[in-house]
Amino acid sequence: MKAIKIEEPKVCPFCGSPVVRILDEGAHLYCTNPNCSERKVAKLNYFVTKECMNIDGLSEKTLRKLRNKLIINSWQDLYKYTFEDFVVAGCGEKTALKLVDELNKSKTEVPAERVLMALGIPCIGKVNATKLLETFGSIEEIERIASITQVDLTNIVSHRKGYDIINLLGEVAGQNVVDYMNNNKEELQEVYKLFNTKYENKNVSTGNKLTGLTILATGTLANFSRDGIKDSVIANGGTYASGISKKLDYLIVGDKAGSSKLKKAEELGIKQITEDDYLNLIK
Ligand SMILES: [Zn+2]
Repeated sequence: MKAIKIEEPKVCPFCGSPVVRILDEGAHLYCTNPNCSERKVAKLNYFVTKECMNIDGLSEKTLRKLRNKLIINSWQDLYKYTFEDFVVAGCGEKTALKLVDELNKSKTEVPAERVLMALGIPCIGKVNATKLLETFGSIEEIERIASITQVDLTNIVSHRKGYDIINLLGEVAGQNVVDYMNNNKEELQEVYKLFNTKYENKNVSTGNKLTGLTILATGTLANFSRDGIKDSVIANGGTYASGISKKLDYLIVGDKAGSSKLKKAEELGIKQITEDDYLNLIK
């Protein structure tokens, strides 16, 4: 088979502005025009995804429809509108009600690391967002660290702005965070006003709520890594199972759980619970 050479686009197909490749972000090309309409839609779409702010009911189609009638250039705009606004913009009442409800819910229910992710800083996905918050404790503190130029007195060497962040995440991702934090002060003020910005480490909540219980998780969880859920079960006095058997009390079912595992659990009559159920168990 002969490889076909594809000419890389030099400009955004939607607004004609030059595109750039961001280091460490693979093959993705980014439009450089901050006012590019398609770029705004892509940013908003990412903001509302399940992995970020989890605004269920705001599909791309709905978003585009709303943008025909309402000014929605940023996520901040989304939070300005009321039920009536959404209805006037063409949403059904049920959809409008759900949208308002979901937006309100996101203010209290989304943990800080997902808020940080939702801001769309290049290279800052779940792993890096969690790492930053575990280290610095809050988005406010990350902004503060990003703004200071550190001086290493032992070497009399002046470090650059946000050195600790660059040190933690590496050159590219770290610099992206430092730049974002220094260039988006107004947006950050809105973030602090509306959302959770303090890190709550659910993985280290300890206790004995799970004593005598054997638990296993399957699929992808929003708040725990594979090892993280195991650590959490053990830290709360439970036993983490190695596989599905009759000994199992609860199977935590995450996203994209394997159907064969679920079938087996069903056959054995094992109680299946959601991640939220689990979080309630250890509360
Ligand atoms: Zn563009």
